Amino acid sequence: MNATHRREFLATLPLAELHRHFDGAIRPATLWEMSEKYYSAVPGLDFEAFRHYLQWDDAQDRSLIDYLDKFHVPLQYTQFYDTIKRVAYEIAEDAYADGIRLLELRINPLIHRRAGLSNRQVLNATRKGLMRFADAHPDFRCGIVVIAMRSHGGNMAKILLREIVGEKEQYHSRVGVVGFDIAGPESPFPPVLFREAYELAARMGLHRTVHAGESEGPGRIWEALDNLGPQRIGHGTSAGRDQELMRRLARDGVYLEVCLSSNVQTGAVADLRDHPLPRFLDAGVKVALCTDNPTVSSTTLSREYELAMDLFGLTEDDVRALAEMSCRGTFLGEGCHCYGSAG
Ligand SMILES: [Zn+2]
Repeated sequence: MNATHRREFLATLPLAELHRHFDGAIRPATLWEMSEKYYSAVPGLDFEAFRHYLQWDDAQDRSLIDYLDKFHVPLQYTQFYDTIKRVAYEIAEDAYADGIRLLELRINPLIHRRAGLSNRQVLNATRKGLMRFADAHPDFRCGIVVIAMRSHGGNMAKILLREIVGEKEQYHSRVGVVGFDIAGPESPFPPVLFREAYELAARMGLHRTVHAGESEGPGRIWEALDNLGPQRIGHGTSAGRDQELMRRLARDGVYLEVCLSSNVQTGAVADLRDHPLPRFLDAGVKVALCTDNPTVSSTTLSREYELAMDLFGLTEDDVRALAEMSCRGTFLGEGCHCYGSAG
């Protein structure tokens, strides 16, 4: 299948994005506009040079540090209610234009509070922005996954959960918080620290995912499964090295949120041709193909599907099955609406 044919085929598929970070999905043009409006960027800097602060460049970026550096500039501007609302709207708009009909947007509210917003206000702004788009597009559904930082520890995660209970999906007509996640450096902050937070999230009726096995080995994924009872794992890349773990994930129906471009940029895999995605599928592990941070990675979800087809020779049937499986992994209250109710 040539590239044009492939893109035409992908355009016929409703896509579901279950792992997309708010601060890694902001339009560069919007940030550029804000940099001029609020702070003015480095004098003399043009838009193309500005983009290098936001987006991965294969020619010059090499490491996890380079990747994480791309999040500094956006945070300067996403501290105000109206900005957050606008960005959330634009993220939904961009997702829709890429063929996404179901979007879970994840956000760590704590990092958007430097101008005095509360956690709840950050989520409320995100919800309002998403809702404005969803109200005008009845075939588009979306929700929010709240992230707690691993480095802030389990108690802060519990405080965050209690603060944001009022933003849950069930209390609102269309868009709300559906899930809980932890992110940040894996190695010093093991999953066990968050056991009580995940118990609380479950009692609150929130779905649970965990960033795990991205920079660390499969042991961290085992710990996450045993201590936190998640329905999905963010990345879980290192599970590809552990047959028994893949059997466990398959047995329990725990999804892996697989993000190809992100995984090679952060060094979770050295070479995309060795990415464990085909092994996950062969082992019967449920997979949702996702982007992680489309702006930072200079990608889109449809491009990630193209990449998977290129790398692993997936057929149209394989890709349709993957898109449907991704959709069925959703945390949204009414579940997958794109592929019918069966399955
Ligand atoms: Zn992520």
